[in-house]
Amino acid sequence: MNKALRRPVIAGNWKMNKTPDEAKALIEEMKPLVADADCDVVVCVPYVDIPAALEATAGSNIKVGAENCHWAESGAFTAEISAPMLKAVGVPYVIIGHSERRQYFGETDVTVNKRTKAALASGLKVILCVGELLEQREQGITEEVVRYQTKIALGDVSAEDLKNVIIAYEPVWAIGTGRTATAEQANEVNAAIRACIAELYGKDAADATVIQYGGSMNAKNAAELLAQPDVDGGLIGGASLKAQDFSVIVKAASV
Ligand code: PEP
Repeated sequence: MNKALRRPVIAGNWKMNKTPDEAKALIEEMKPLVADADCDVVVCVPYVDIPAALEATAGSNIKVGAENCHWAESGAFTAEISAPMLKAVGVPYVIIGHSERRQYFGETDVTVNKRTKAALASGLKVILCVGELLEQREQGITEEVVRYQTKIALGDVSAEDLKNVIIAYEPVWAIGTGRTATAEQANEVNAAIRACIAELYGKDAADATVIQYGGSMNAKNAAELLAQPDVDGGLIGGASLKAQDFSVIVKAASV
């Protein structure tokens, strides 16, 4: 597997943090720090921050993402936001299937698949999250779990659309806990996901697919994780809310 075929993507997931003014201030602080990045840089922000984030990032190398989207184009889905709405405001990326959506808001592999297909149909780039629970790792079924999640999420996604999918391997036990997967654990699961993509779409497609690691990645551990042959970037929660720390991670991905 040739890592050089893939451009790393470092994406921040701001979760439910930052008002529009705070979002603007954080992006202004980040811009000079990541301006020379040799990787793609994305900040996924709360819906209400999207206009401020788009304005603040205009003309810079930082792209904006949303944190979810609905599968329907429009309709009676109170409080939801559709993929065409995101496209219309100029958002290029969207996270789908984050474990917090699965844990707290009833997302299933089937709804993750529906949201993924809707986002791709609207021309969005999807950051698709998969990952095992702690008890699943302890039962030794991590690989089965991520293969299952990946296969269902990508059901009916064409090889052409796969080019707009980034997969984020995020062990649930490592998200927001300060407990990071070891570099070897991250690489092992990322390689298993890549093998699954190869089974579904062929080796060339698998070689071209960006597979990130996410879960307490920070300024201190990023370099080791990002140096792994199957780790093509990161999805960063807590550390993406600190411009300096985020920029260290971006630099680690740029070597
Ligand atoms: C995330 O929210 O996707 C994440 C990885 O969070 P954290 O970096 O805080 O663990």
